[in-house]
Amino acid sequence: MIDRYGREIRYLRLSVTELCNLRCRYCMPEDGVCKKRHEEMLTQEEMLSAIRAAASLGIQKLRLTGGEPLVKPNIVSLCEGAAQTPGIREICLTTNGLLLPRLAKDLRAAGVKRLNISLDTLDPEKYHYITRRGSLEDALKGIEAALAAGFEKIKLNTVLIGGFNDGEIRPLAELTKRYPVDLRFIELMPMYDSGDFGPEAFIPYTVVTDTLPELEPLPADGSVAKLYRLPGAQGRVGLISPVSAHFCASCNRIRITADGKIKPCLHSPDELSIKGLTEEEMVQVLRRAILEKPQWHGELSYKERSHANRNMNQIGG
Ligand code: SAM
Ligand code: SF4
Repeated sequence: MIDRYGREIRYLRLSVTELCNLRCRYCMPEDGVCKKRHEEMLTQEEMLSAIRAAASLGIQKLRLTGGEPLVKPNIVSLCEGAAQTPGIREICLTTNGLLLPRLAKDLRAAGVKRLNISLDTLDPEKYHYITRRGSLEDALKGIEAALAAGFEKIKLNTVLIGGFNDGEIRPLAELTKRYPVDLRFIELMPMYDSGDFGPEAFIPYTVVTDTLPELEPLPADGSVAKLYRLPGAQGRVGLISPVSAHFCASCNRIRITADGKIKPCLHSPDELSIKGLTEEEMVQVLRRAILEKPQWHGELSYKERSHANRNMNQIGG
């Protein structure tokens, strides 16, 4: 479906849970989430109805996200159901990777084609610090399990944080030499209640090109990342700049939260509920949400925080 600004909306990001086995400082508060009642969350059947409803309006690509999607007990059967939806050509999943040693093969067999795995540092102490509890060793085992399971594409996502990992840009980017993966640096977004990062933490993507002058630019591939390759690398380096150079004019996505709210824009407070609706009603509300999608997300900076009114674990990134 085409929105009011001529953008063809083809991509749905469905958050399957707000819960997570980590507590990344930029994403959610230390004491976790105020757990909502079971009845407030979409059931698996409602999630599958929403996916079918979205597909009937032209959605072709689905990303399952969270919270941490792999802590959801029925994640594999949800992926199987989604893969059987007519019109959905590609199922992707974003994960912190910790549970991949147990689940990677089943997810691949269920029809997940692409994985994004979050990795902000290669230093075990810093990994534990930024996630408030995780082990780098477990995350790396997750990446190995994903590589062994034969996904069509694996991307590593690094949130670029001044004073935290800007000294690791080279070793992180060089993972694309060692493994057949892309690595994407994503600018830190100033969310509602996520962490006490000072202005120095919000650094633009250009620090990556300044640090790695040998990066060779590549043509765009339709994703939101500016693409490069290190000489001789197997994978690409992507730079995603929601803060310093937004890409709203080419935004082709809508989001649905685990509690059944359609978010036409990540950084807008506007939400339309589909909880408890029939599939036909969901089609109508999704259509309205696409037509109401704002032109852009407004100014974002250390001072101008997101108007999303949710932390990232309650949206899905
Ligand atoms: N738990 C999964 C994971 O970490 O990959 C999926 C959900 S997480 C909310 C999705 C993505 O959002 C992750 O790559 C995470 O790094 C990113 N993210 C969370 N908070 C962010 C923020 N404030 N700025 C930029 N990216 C953020
Ligand atoms: Fe959990 Fe992902 Fe948020 Fe980290 S970024 S707290 S892993 S949802």
